[in-house]
Amino acid sequence: MVVIDGVSDRPVNGKTPLSSAKTPNLDKLAEMGINGIMDTVSPGIRPGSDTSHLALLGYDPFKYYTGRGPIEAAGVGIELKPGDVAFRVNFATVKGEGTIFDKIVVDRRAGRIEDTSDLIKAIEDELDLPVKFILKKGTGHRAALVLRGDNLSHEVTDTDPKKVGRKVKTCKAKNKEALETAEIVNVFTQKTHEILEEHPLNQVRVAEGKPKANALLLRGAGGFTKIKSFEEKYGLKLAVVSATALIRGVCRLVGGEVIDVEGATGNVHTNIGNKIKAAIEALDHYDVVLLHFKATDELGHDKNFEGKTKFIEKLDSYFKEILNLDFSKICLIITADHSTPVSVGDHTADPVPVTIVHDGVRVDDVKKFSEFEVYKGGLCRISGRDLLRIALDLINKAKKFGA
Ligand code: ZN
Ligand code: ZN
Repeated sequence: MVVIDGVSDRPVNGKTPLSSAKTPNLDKLAEMGINGIMDTVSPGIRPGSDTSHLALLGYDPFKYYTGRGPIEAAGVGIELKPGDVAFRVNFATVKGEGTIFDKIVVDRRAGRIEDTSDLIKAIEDELDLPVKFILKKGTGHRAALVLRGDNLSHEVTDTDPKKVGRKVKTCKAKNKEALETAEIVNVFTQKTHEILEEHPLNQVRVAEGKPKANALLLRGAGGFTKIKSFEEKYGLKLAVVSATALIRGVCRLVGGEVIDVEGATGNVHTNIGNKIKAAIEALDHYDVVLLHFKATDELGHDKNFEGKTKFIEKLDSYFKEILNLDFSKICLIITADHSTPVSVGDHTADPVPVTIVHDGVRVDDVKKFSEFEVYKGGLCRISGRDLLRIALDLINKAKKFGA
């Protein structure tokens, strides 16, 4: 399953990046396969990349998604237990007088700090909370926090104001049961600020003219949900090739394996050839391999029509490799997790294109992989949650319902 993040669009002067890009290989695949459009989560629901990937793997996001925190935690390798509360964390820079809640966020990424291990170590050594906490670094300025103890609740608000120039927010309980958790989050936020503010590494950063990494901003609180592993659910082994923490997290959450690839960056500079090679090699050891490309979504967020078009063309040039797969053995899906129109700069619920190539599928008349063509194909309009089921049927692996 190749997921080109946010590849589909809305037309600008009648054209989209995908429809105007020269994509001979994708077009050939569309010609060889059966095509359609897909609502990854539900019609009219604007999906996040996390909820949509859960759906693409056959999990109902309305049931299994409680927030981004648990996925971030899974992404850095923390296994959640019942009662845990998980958050996404940013190392950030705050300035001002008073408590942390009087201070202004001046950099949400603390100058894109690379190594936070010493800072995390200091917090682990010095911070005393009424509950157990696990703080683990992600890539760059990112980290995940898990609170573990009795009577915790994930019904609490973010401390991250999400914009520079604003004060750090006080964590608030969304209901009575969450009052204690909100209080713990506020203590955590203040005390970690004190520890970080005085940390020698921050003195060094100041001397080097870099912003201090002196605050931890929390968001996306979520709790544990019991989720059947991919293998339990389908009897199939899952692997993911993606450099994006969120997608790696979704994969780990359902018990899949994450494959690291040299040169995979999750942006336009990613090593496309290496990722495709790794995904094809993974087919020797796994039943389902999800190959994810992120840059198309970023360029959509940047409202960069031309950049998005060019990256699609670049991606396509590497798809020759995919064209030569043995489709008597392999069932290929090419799709997206949501649309990220350049005219909007964010995710929309516009359905995404989907192409399935496998020997014996009902090949349709579609000859171009674009928003304006694939909907004419034989798959018509499907739901993301049905995608794997449809593919399993096409390879004769679906269970019979009834006699
Ligand atoms: Zn996405
Ligand atoms: Zn996005």
